[in-house]
Amino acid sequence: MAPGSARGGATVHQVNAAPGQPIEAAAVSACLDRLPQVDLVAAVHAESSNGALNPLGALAALARSRQALFVVDAVASVGGHPIDFDEHDIDIAVIGAQKALAGPAGISAVAVSARAWAHIDAQPDFAPSSLSLAELKRNWLDRGRLALPGTPPALEFWALDAALDRVEAEGIELVIARHRQAAQASRAGLRALGVEPWIAADEAASALVTSVRAPEGIHANVLIADAAKLGVELLPGFGEIEGRIVRLDHTGLRASFDAVLANVTAFGAVLERREVKVDIGAAVRAVRDVYAI
Ligand SMILES: *Cc1c(COP(=O)(O)O)cnc(C)c1O
Repeated sequence: MAPGSARGGATVHQVNAAPGQPIEAAAVSACLDRLPQVDLVAAVHAESSNGALNPLGALAALARSRQALFVVDAVASVGGHPIDFDEHDIDIAVIGAQKALAGPAGISAVAVSARAWAHIDAQPDFAPSSLSLAELKRNWLDRGRLALPGTPPALEFWALDAALDRVEAEGIELVIARHRQAAQASRAGLRALGVEPWIAADEAASALVTSVRAPEGIHANVLIADAAKLGVELLPGFGEIEGRIVRLDHTGLRASFDAVLANVTAFGAVLERREVKVDIGAAVRAVRDVYAI
């Protein structure tokens, strides 16, 4: 989010987490303490690129303590984690359908609080962009939501409609619970296998993907390539942690017993192939125990 804000003319102070780990609220607090004025605090909720879950409540409290707007990238987390807009005083949340909601990419939605609209309205002019919220408000929302500006992408809209029908039929609470269960089962399975999840604390791990460290001396992509031979798609990490972690994806329709079981057993099988001692039987039982019916 930061580079975009900087391009838009904001002065951005970036607080970085340790590679692939969630942000420490104390580091954000220390950064805020150094600044005379803070207009906006922006954070990613859950990161599907590494499996980290940032501490939304603590970040919300910090934003509130500075009377700053709180902006959240909830693209991945909507449907995967509870997001209470009121409790967390979220001013702007960006959400997407293509992750936990198992819908289309290509369109996204924003939720904007009254406070954020007041802030946006107070700007003397708005950027000439089809993404300008101020322009959408003045020329579309405030004029009674007539024809959408531009040509709506019909296929994405239909796909979104179908995805939301499916979410409604299952119930959003159950969609979230299904992701929580998939994360629990993945973490229990890995531990029973004999390896530790990359994000050590359960409460700091996202429910969308579970990352695991590649053993010393084995490049993660080697393990991923081996798993592909079993027909199981394990994913690499990004940036500084590429090559060091393997991501087990349990997002959207993959938040299920069969996907979790395939991820964990395939990861065990490829480790075993590289002479790492693992207990695949124990891992299977651990996954089953979380899904016990
Ligand atoms: C996937 C994702 C996005 C959206 O990225 P796309 O390029 O649209 O797929 C944004 N934020 C987070 C945290 C994500 O996981």
